[in-house]
Amino acid sequence: MDRGVVLSEVGRFGLEEIEVDAPGEGEVLVRIEASGVCHSDLHVVETGWAHRLPVLLGHEGAGVVEEVGGGVTTLAPGDRVVLGWRSPCGACRWCARGDVRRCRTPPGVRDRLHLADGRALSQTLQMGTFATRTVVHSAAAIPIADGLPPEQACLIGCSVATGVGSVLNTADVWEGARIAVIGCGAVGLSVVQGARLAGASEIYALDLEERKLVAAEAFGATHRGPGAKLDFVFDVVGRPETVAQGLEMLGHAGTLVYIGLPQPGAAAAIDLQQLFDRRLRVVVSHGGDHVPALDFPQLVQWAQEGKIELAGMVTKRVGLEDVAQAFDDLKAGEVIRSVILF
Ligand SMILES: [Zn+2]
Ligand SMILES: [Zn+2]
Repeated sequence: MDRGVVLSEVGRFGLEEIEVDAPGEGEVLVRIEASGVCHSDLHVVETGWAHRLPVLLGHEGAGVVEEVGGGVTTLAPGDRVVLGWRSPCGACRWCARGDVRRCRTPPGVRDRLHLADGRALSQTLQMGTFATRTVVHSAAAIPIADGLPPEQACLIGCSVATGVGSVLNTADVWEGARIAVIGCGAVGLSVVQGARLAGASEIYALDLEERKLVAAEAFGATHRGPGAKLDFVFDVVGRPETVAQGLEMLGHAGTLVYIGLPQPGAAAAIDLQQLFDRRLRVVVSHGGDHVPALDFPQLVQWAQEGKIELAGMVTKRVGLEDVAQAFDDLKAGEVIRSVILF
């Protein structure tokens, strides 16, 4: 019997027995080997985040293809994959004009997972990786080269793609730029790594936790605390206060890159004189605007070449029964990333 962590109502989740159907046309069944515990999962627990309940949690997973549905020619049983929640649909108006990084309708599967009583489960971001096995659209399972441990590979599926992508795709940071990152968890540290890859000359790290600042320096941050007259500020926290602080830290033609998920109803005041005088920009990074099929192989290669560091991001390994503790650790700032191992 398969097992998965299911949110049955907002705020209430538990480990349940689940039934996993065979994959349909264009779908694949994946045995999960590792799944990161991401802030977005906590956001689903706390708000539902527009998911139909009950919902299977988890979206940052790596595993092995066990079975492929009809018409799937790009994957075969035994393939190692990282699951990606931002695969372009190929049909919307953004995809139609080639702007696939702006697609917001990734293909999913319909009701392949059920509770023991037969109720259909939706899947967080169409993934559902807090489970022994899941079914996803074949476009969402990206084959990767052997050699990367699953606990590291899974991070590429969300936090690393989001952080590095925010720098290279969303912001397009240039060599010599001066940047800051507010919030130094797994996404923030990936921003630091992306900025280092882009050749940023100064990288300021801001966080309330000393241990995360230490980690940020180990990952390439050059300064602690707010910088001034910066070219880019990456707000991974996403609160009205951090937006205000981020805008304050920008210099001429500076860009605030908004990554953090807003709490429902949150609103920020913007000083329009400051916005105009400094020619500031605010851009939203949705998962670093990553496209799994384009970006995951590159990120895996960089990890294997030592250009990005993944091992140091995994600070706790837990079991599927420990998800409540993993969320508590996340809220308390105790971890960079907890990874569920199966
Ligand atoms: Zn995530
Ligand atoms: Zn699309």
